Amino acid sequence: MTATNAEPRARELRRLIEDANHRYYVLDDPQLSDADYDQLLRELLDLEDRYPELRTSDSPTQRVGAPPAERFAPYEHRVPMLSLANATNADELRAFDERVRKLAGSAQSYVVELKIDGLAISLHYRDGALERGGTRGDGRVGEEVTPNLRTISSIPLRLRPASELGPGTEVRGEVYLKKSDFQNLNAARERAGMPVFANPRNAASGGVRQLDPRLTAERKLSFFAYSLSVMVSDANTVMVSDANTVMVSEKNDVILSGRDKRPSRRTAEPVEAREIATQWQSLQMLKKLGLPVNPHVAQCTSIDEVIAYCEQWEAQREDLDYEIDGVVVKVNDLATQERLGAAGRDPRWAIAYKFKPREARTKLLDIVITVGRTGTLNPNAVLEPVQLGGVTVRNATLHNAEYIASNDIRPGDVVLVTRAGDVIPRVVGPVVSERKGKLRRFVMPDRCPVCSADVDHPEGEAMSRCTNATCPAQVLERVRHFCSRGAMDIEGIGDVMAQQLTELGLVHEIADIYTLSESKLAAVPRSGEKTIANLRRNIEASKSRGLARVLTGLGIRFVGSQTAQILAGDFGTIDAVAAASADELQQCEGIGPEVASSVSLFFAQRANLAMIERLRKAGVSMSAPKRTRAANGKLAGKTFVLTGTLPNMTRDEAAAAITGAGGKVTGSVSKKTDYVVAGSDPGSKYDKAQTLGVPILDEAGLRKLLSS
Ligand code: NAD
Repeated sequence: MTATNAEPRARELRRLIEDANHRYYVLDDPQLSDADYDQLLRELLDLEDRYPELRTSDSPTQRVGAPPAERFAPYEHRVPMLSLANATNADELRAFDERVRKLAGSAQSYVVELKIDGLAISLHYRDGALERGGTRGDGRVGEEVTPNLRTISSIPLRLRPASELGPGTEVRGEVYLKKSDFQNLNAARERAGMPVFANPRNAASGGVRQLDPRLTAERKLSFFAYSLSVMVSDANTVMVSDANTVMVSEKNDVILSGRDKRPSRRTAEPVEAREIATQWQSLQMLKKLGLPVNPHVAQCTSIDEVIAYCEQWEAQREDLDYEIDGVVVKVNDLATQERLGAAGRDPRWAIAYKFKPREARTKLLDIVITVGRTGTLNPNAVLEPVQLGGVTVRNATLHNAEYIASNDIRPGDVVLVTRAGDVIPRVVGPVVSERKGKLRRFVMPDRCPVCSADVDHPEGEAMSRCTNATCPAQVLERVRHFCSRGAMDIEGIGDVMAQQLTELGLVHEIADIYTLSESKLAAVPRSGEKTIANLRRNIEASKSRGLARVLTGLGIRFVGSQTAQILAGDFGTIDAVAAASADELQQCEGIGPEVASSVSLFFAQRANLAMIERLRKAGVSMSAPKRTRAANGKLAGKTFVLTGTLPNMTRDEAAAAITGAGGKVTGSVSKKTDYVVAGSDPGSKYDKAQTLGVPILDEAGLRKLLSS
């Protein structure tokens, strides 16, 4: 190959890398795996090494990150925040050690730190107080995001007065999202029908770069500090120690770092700063200042120790509640760091040992649906087997139909699969450039693949659900819910018993609970005569709980105890509820189109009607005193909404007392609501009542009204 042949490839690589940088750093939405990205960058570095004339000044090998977004004020780094050269195996670590020894003239000891997979930030403290903070950006200018960083609870707003460090202190470190917080965040986003994040890094980076700090606060970000520099005056950085910084002389041309004993302005230098001669001491000082430092840092006196540490953490990375993508190896001595300086975008005195990737490309062979315990239809990817962080992956989650549609994932695609932050691998998205021919879009089935009942796909909801209360995939969850306290309240059938009954095949659907004879129950391990007798008595007693409890127990989507009370009160019998059209259901106060459509879809399923027949035959009461609108009770014509926890009565009891006195309980507050009864921790209904000026009662107020 000649420079002329290599030029088009170099140009192509620059474009591909710039595109990937933009997606990764600006949009927080990468489409390449890190390993693929690193491979492109290595190829470009290699071409530029062989043909230096191809190295343009704007090549991504010369710059870090991406330019700051314009929506933030610029945050200038007086000392650039650099990237890190990578090593992917022990040989490359040894080569690094040799280079260091050659340049430094002697063997070095190293500090090893976990490479936290988040985003690098800089914090400036003035006289101990956090003054401003920003992102790395392109290494020279980042984005000023001070109000957002203030919301991160592990970033101290004030340093501990443990030391005399001078007026200005810069701390650098990594903002990250814990795996547990990441999973909660994605689960909440999924529930709200919002796109999920590919990994904790993207979620953390997007969180820091929000325009509204309240949104940053919601992400629950965390922080680890790994570098400290102290400024004597605004123009003079006296001590810098960090793999992302180069020692540069600022205007005053004075840099004090460890053994550098030639400062001309020593008088201005605070005492403690002079004592910091190593990265290890910097880390200790950061701790003293009250900054969170990762506990797994270590000092190594040989490269063999470094390699052992890297291997140990590569094997142990799953034990941590945050993602790490490698180990950062830093020359410990700060004066040597300074002497070694930087080459292009990477310091010569540090290297990142990168773990084997946990992202990979493979082919999506098919999408199959499984039905969850709560009836949700979960699309799963069937993949061409691929190695991911040491395990062979054949299946991955695709979340829901909306996720598949918004990421345009089609069976037959080459896809990016990741295990970042998750236990279960998932498909991040297709590699569209590799799509060959026409691939059909995936369509969610409209019948349950387990029981063939209708599937409900409510407007604005990400999940599709099977509507059959007798669906075998859901039996355990249905039985547990039916017997729970808010529903039929069958004491003795809790989580464990429900599991035993379904696993033993004694209960296939909820109506089977009423067929549990003594002999059947005797098959349940550890159930003595007394237990069986109690259980049978409790099952018998549940038959007279009434319509509202039955409706609650059926587990119809959106029908909780309050809605069940309304339906029971307005219709009187289960047959009347089942026969009502969606329009008729919506005539009830507090029943909107979503609830109405869910109820009518439930009663349109033959299997559900058959099960209700079985309940009826078993003697379960399915009627309620029908509420007449002109009842003579004390609360006749009055509409109530309940919110929060009342001190001495459950919400069901309160609702029963209100309906018993002729009043009506609805689910949402409107101008027509007469009273809101609020307990502790009330929800948004309380706020709405205040806005609309609806009178708010506590439990005592309600009791007074009932007895007046
Ligand atoms: P880097 O991630 O390889 O290393 C530098 C970064 O490490 C620092 O900026 C800092 O944020 C972090 N770090 C974590 N712990 C640290 C510690 N203890 N000490 C010092 N630094 C620590 O370099 P980079 O320039 O941030 O990013 C390049 C990498 O990002 C690539 O190798 C690739 O993996 C990824 N990337 C991926 C894509 C993509 O499309 N997938 C695009 C761009 C970049």
